[in-house]
Amino acid sequence: MPAPTSGSNSPTPSVSSRSLERVPLTSLRGVGPGIEKKLQNLGINNVQDLLFHLPFRYQDRTRINDIRSVRFGEHVQLQGELVASKVLFGKRRSLQCTLKDDTGFINLRFFFFTPAQQKSLQTGVRLRCYGEVRRGSAGYEIYHPEYRILSGDHGTELEDTLTPIYPSTEGLQQARLRSIIDQALARMDSLHQVNEYLPEEIRRKVAAGQSTQGNPLSMTLGDAIRFLHHPPENVTLELLESGQHPAQQRLAFEELLSHRLCMRRLRLASNSRPAAPMPARHTLVEKFSAALPFSLTGAQQRAFGEIARDMADAAPMLRLVQGDVGSGKTVVAAMAALRAVENKFQVAIMAPTEILAEQHFMNFSHWLEPLGVEVGWLSGKLTAAQRKKQLEGIGSGTTRIVVGTHALFQESVSYADLGLIIIDEQHRFGVHQRMALKEKSASKSREPHQLVMTATPIPRTLAMSAYADLDCSVIDELPPGRTPVQTLVVGDERRDEVISRIHSACEQGNQVYWVCTLIEESESLQCQAAEATAAMMREQLPELRIGLVHGRMKGKEKAVVMEQFKAGDLQLLVATTVIEVGVDVPNASLMVIENSERLGLAQLHQLRGRVGRGSKRSYCILLYQGPLSETGKHRLAVMRESNDGFHIAEKDLEIRGPGQVLGTQQTGLMSFRVADISRDAYLLEDVRRYSELILSAYPQLVDPLVNRWLGRREDYGRV
Ligand code: ADP
Ligand code: MG
Repeated sequence: MPAPTSGSNSPTPSVSSRSLERVPLTSLRGVGPGIEKKLQNLGINNVQDLLFHLPFRYQDRTRINDIRSVRFGEHVQLQGELVASKVLFGKRRSLQCTLKDDTGFINLRFFFFTPAQQKSLQTGVRLRCYGEVRRGSAGYEIYHPEYRILSGDHGTELEDTLTPIYPSTEGLQQARLRSIIDQALARMDSLHQVNEYLPEEIRRKVAAGQSTQGNPLSMTLGDAIRFLHHPPENVTLELLESGQHPAQQRLAFEELLSHRLCMRRLRLASNSRPAAPMPARHTLVEKFSAALPFSLTGAQQRAFGEIARDMADAAPMLRLVQGDVGSGKTVVAAMAALRAVENKFQVAIMAPTEILAEQHFMNFSHWLEPLGVEVGWLSGKLTAAQRKKQLEGIGSGTTRIVVGTHALFQESVSYADLGLIIIDEQHRFGVHQRMALKEKSASKSREPHQLVMTATPIPRTLAMSAYADLDCSVIDELPPGRTPVQTLVVGDERRDEVISRIHSACEQGNQVYWVCTLIEESESLQCQAAEATAAMMREQLPELRIGLVHGRMKGKEKAVVMEQFKAGDLQLLVATTVIEVGVDVPNASLMVIENSERLGLAQLHQLRGRVGRGSKRSYCILLYQGPLSETGKHRLAVMRESNDGFHIAEKDLEIRGPGQVLGTQQTGLMSFRVADISRDAYLLEDVRRYSELILSAYPQLVDPLVNRWLGRREDYGRV
């Protein structure tokens, strides 16, 4: 890392030796080895960690809500008298108590209760309780409320301030955790202030550039921490939930900054070996683009320009190309490959599945062999003899481009002069896998360039944080002449109408996909469902030629069916979600997706991208099982209203949060304590800018900041 520059006149902040980082947990009252262990399980190793163990929500116990005005989903505190109490023997045995105040009634329901509890919750008892409002069969209910029986005026006073709720672990009660954190706060106040790592220079610059949302660094770190652990009186739940309070902004900023620094540090570490610069040689790329039957879109040209600039440099490229299905990423990848080949380097192109790898292989051979570039193929399906031949070509360097699955990076594969790796469908690979790939493929002195491509658009805000180790190009324009897919949302009770629509579509010479989905991750259940559906379709539509593909079929069997569909021999293809990244069939103009309410928006969008690839008007019918929740309605409406993958991804992020959007692989990366990347998106530009400044001018701050926010999550970035 570069040495600090002398540009700033403020003293460089340092890690004080009196830091709370060095104060052990056991120095606090009530923390023995047992509690210490539990705290450590929460990632808390010292007193500073306690300060940064922030509430993930708050409860409002400062007032009593009227029963009449409670809303579904709200957390409420109620007080009144029990007017009924009985054990019900329904589907599940439960104790139901009816609570009455001056405004109405509500049921409290206990599925687990002791005889003593039942006895104490008798008619006539006065009660205060707290819980979440749900919808029951007869009006609103609260399951397992926290409650306290009131006697006389004793203990009826309300809290003055909001009650923080902390992430905790089994056997560590909120009240205990609160008292331990209170002691940490007292230490912060009396002994050592918590270290303010952000340099004066950054605080000044952020203040000068503040937006309409205010200056995110206006509050001191200590004040912000104190505020979030102990919101003062008059601070409302609504205010805290908005995330707009300066205390939240202050901490969110630092947290986002620390996450980004962590990612950037990984990236910089991986730059320690240079790559080979690959300037334009004007031998292959131009020939290729001149031979294409179309001209590149502006977005394709821009993306290739960015790639070409990276590749011409000795710093290894690590670039993500995002573009919707059909936006023409493959062509751009081919041009990058040719740039490497014209510089006398080999290229490895990796896809996540055999089907997709094979499709790339066909595309690339078709395009590149006329230019005299030999394309090889490596997959799990090769015979020993075929494999040997391929490995020889790769080892000797006669094969210039090799396409395959992860088989490309097995031990036995050695490249003559690998200069570029292209990974398709990058969202299935985590940071760790990217790094591992680099390791495997680097020689002692040199690294290959890396290009990753994804058809799952990642909202910009998410890309800026989750993929901070990558540079990003976006292909946000579809080739001309495509008609957008029209999407209909249809309840499952209208299935018969849908089936007759399939019939007429096929009669008019169109082809149709029917996608079976199940919420169960079990592939075997999915396949059974697809088999049953196919059988049913054959019965209802005997005059159609119907095929079936699912994940448990052998690769060859699948390929045969896909070929038949592609050739038009099959009219209706019943499939599981394996076709998500499958074959291109321009004549397919209708897709029906079952149980669509259960799929993520990104996945629905991916599936839908299988139709609308030709010039025909195409339709996608999203079948759902009613009744839909509000969110469910909202999500399907997004699909109906938009064909823009980026817009859909932004909505998905708003509705479901980053963990869901990125997939489980990445959730560890995106679990923030205070920050919320949708809500705090406006901070990200500054976060980006100032993380670069810290890396160049204050590199000694990187470790302390990362440790403070990410702790010793050593596997960070390796999830
Ligand atoms: P992606 O990989 O982004 O889903 P592809 O690269 O497979 O998209 O392109 C989809 C289809 O569009 C292919 O048939 C491709 O040949 C064609 N195509 C790509 N770029 C253009 C363009 N600029 N104009 C017209 N057609 C294009
Ligand atoms: Mg593609």
